[in-house]
Amino acid sequence: MMDYIQIFNAAPDVEASAPGRVNLLGEHTDYNDGFVLPTAIPQHTTVAIGRSPNDRHHFYSANLEEQVDIGPSESTPTGFARYVDGCIRVLEQSGHKIPPLNIFVNSSVPIGSGLSSSAALEVATLRGLRSLLNLNLDDVKIAQLGQQAEIQYAGVSCGILDQMASSLADTEHMLFLDTRTLDRKILPFPEGAEIVVIDSGVARSLASSGYNQRRAECEEAARQFGVKALRDVSNPQVTDSLPDPIRKRARHVITENNRVLKVLDGISAETFGELMNASHASLRDDYEVSVPALDQLVDILQNTPGVFGARLTGAGFGGACVALVRLGEGKTIAQKGLTQYNQLGHKGLILVG
Ligand code: ADP
Ligand code: MG
Repeated sequence: MMDYIQIFNAAPDVEASAPGRVNLLGEHTDYNDGFVLPTAIPQHTTVAIGRSPNDRHHFYSANLEEQVDIGPSESTPTGFARYVDGCIRVLEQSGHKIPPLNIFVNSSVPIGSGLSSSAALEVATLRGLRSLLNLNLDDVKIAQLGQQAEIQYAGVSCGILDQMASSLADTEHMLFLDTRTLDRKILPFPEGAEIVVIDSGVARSLASSGYNQRRAECEEAARQFGVKALRDVSNPQVTDSLPDPIRKRARHVITENNRVLKVLDGISAETFGELMNASHASLRDDYEVSVPALDQLVDILQNTPGVFGARLTGAGFGGACVALVRLGEGKTIAQKGLTQYNQLGHKGLILVG
């Protein structure tokens, strides 16, 4: 594995890192101005930054073994460099002067698995730039700039969840976030619990078309209720007047927001697990973003002793499952669950546990 000195023939000036994340509750709520509850995972992205010896930026990813060089006034690059260059450009847009830089990227966050390697890359880059250039940016501002970089330069119309989680969460706590107001609360993990994340091995092939369709259905439901977003509705019974599938979509968002809010009361691991199970049922039956493999994996986990609850995490249509399990048993439970899942003919992968 290469390091900064081997690539750039000098030592870096600063290093910074930021974690990946997994969302524990509050799925498909962020674009409805709702509530989410992510936590950071142990895997993180590290950047090392120094000044470039010439007038070009030089970005290197150790994961991709790829280098991209960009001169002043050249257009935005493609591939991973969009994220790094995007961070520099959003800072320039807000008036900061950024000198030509060498940036070395290395990450233990699985890339493209839904654990938000993209936000980890943005937040790590922005943290590195903050310390190199003494920029006056707080952690919320870093998250917002990272989101802007992803929207404007990577072309992903994402919410603020990923960047807020990477910038503000740690692995010992859950981050309660109101995505409308950005009000937040750092909450302790339910006592005696830890998390397991397993990738289903099913690619999220329909994810973007399904995602856009769900978004449109939610907007339609909000329009029919005469509210700005579904977050403004708290009683799921009012959805009875809507036609399907809008009715079911709205019911998922409303009940899901209510589940996240319950966590603020300070609940036990058992209760938290029940909320996760209910979340999965709602994502499967009302929001219809699960697939058979995810249901099987969740079912296996929910029936494994020591598991408080399990659900699909991320947009669905494939991707990963998260489970809350008894503290100290994550490794064993993950391996047990994966073995059973593999016996059904699937190829899963333990991401956390
Ligand atoms: P996720 O954020 O769930 O991992 P995304 O599709 O949002 O998936 O982001 C993945 C993209 O982020 C990669 O295709 C790559 O362009 C970029 N990326 C993230 N981490 C790295 C890294 N360590 N090295 C290079 N590119 C990275
Ligand atoms: Mg991402």
